[in-house]
Amino acid sequence: MDYNRIIDGMHYEGNCIRPPSEANSILLQVTLGCSHNKCTFCGTYKDKRFAIKSDEIILNDILFASKHMRGQDRAFLMDGDALIIPQTRLLWILDRIREYLPWVKRVGAYANTKSISMKTPEELKELREKGLGIIFLGVETGDDEVRKMVRKGSSANHCIEMGRKLKDADFKLSVTVLLGIAGAERSLEHAKATGELLSKMDPDYIGALTVMVIPGTPLWEQQRNGEFHLPDELRLLQELREMIIHTNITRGLFFSNHASNYLPVKARLPRGKQDALNLIDSALRGEIDLKPEWMRAL
Ligand code: SF4
Repeated sequence: MDYNRIIDGMHYEGNCIRPPSEANSILLQVTLGCSHNKCTFCGTYKDKRFAIKSDEIILNDILFASKHMRGQDRAFLMDGDALIIPQTRLLWILDRIREYLPWVKRVGAYANTKSISMKTPEELKELREKGLGIIFLGVETGDDEVRKMVRKGSSANHCIEMGRKLKDADFKLSVTVLLGIAGAERSLEHAKATGELLSKMDPDYIGALTVMVIPGTPLWEQQRNGEFHLPDELRLLQELREMIIHTNITRGLFFSNHASNYLPVKARLPRGKQDALNLIDSALRGEIDLKPEWMRAL
């Protein structure tokens, strides 16, 4: 390898997002933006036109990491849905990671239902064998009415099917759901439907975030026009409670300890379900302080 050819530094463009659990991973930005980019609550990639970065830039970043990031044994492929990269190119990226970063034990990526549906079960297995080990999927809600409203781009059933497809290919599956996304009116229906979706999908990790209305997004406009009303803190807690009640997975971690949430909850399901519900009940009775508004963040 000719290290003199490596341009010093990684090529990061615009907003770069990764899951909290990938904070110590080598972050390789192999695509820009999200191929869907239509969800009404999401302002993450509004400034980016979706593109796959050139092989030259991707290779440069891998080589740079091989020189400077020897202590990090995980890699994460950014941006919004790296799984959408055509199979041959994605295999090429995974091969280069194995070649130049042999100490990396697991590669992760975001995906959406569209990118999962574009891969055959055999292709997913091939990616799994080449080191792609965990997929992060934004589920948000199991309520079809809300999915339509936020322009998620797929039905709850399709979302379940895509999650199962990843599980069948032996991926670790980490999903996020959004408290508050249904507004105050459909809050509990959303919670129940989301718990039911999670039970059928059976992911390994579930992160419940609280929706934050981002200026410039369609949801922001809807809130300004009085078409969307964010549930208050207590309703959000009831929503979380309802969601956990209806979530029956084989074995996994349910956490709502993201900075956006009012009450941190971490439960190993199914064992820790009752403890989580007891904690929420204490908070609902006012026995536990909720996180003040100024401490909440994305
Ligand atoms: S699929 Fe994910 S990244 Fe893309 S617009 Fe929706 S929430 Fe944002």
